[in-house]
Amino acid sequence: MSLKITELCVNCDVCEPVCPNAAISLGAEFYEIAPQRCTECVGHYDTPQCVEVCPVECIITDPQHPESRDQLLAKFDVLTRTDVHEKGGHGLPLPIPARKDDAQGET
Ligand code: SF4
Ligand code: SF4
Repeated sequence: MSLKITELCVNCDVCEPVCPNAAISLGAEFYEIAPQRCTECVGHYDTPQCVEVCPVECIITDPQHPESRDQLLAKFDVLTRTDVHEKGGHGLPLPIPARKDDAQGET
């Protein structure tokens, strides 16, 4: 089950950097959790890291996004593979092939 942040959030910024899935971001009024990226930290940690650090205990389970542990693990697998692919597989310039300069010495 994904977690959600309630309106009790005081925008202290503490939870955002501890999320291993980059699921937390600042919303229009307070921080939000993207349910498609939250695994309850399954696969990374034994406990939800955002809940551990939140000083006002405003992060709760989201009944709108019920998921079993197996489903959370499957989400972790997809996120891990996708993120690795995005970080390492794209955006790198292709090496420029060496120019063969064999004009000199031609007879
Ligand atoms: S429970 Fe874990 S994965 Fe979900 S938002 Fe919190 S830190 Fe991120
Ligand atoms: S740690 Fe809690 S209070 Fe602070 S930004 Fe995150 S949800 Fe809001």
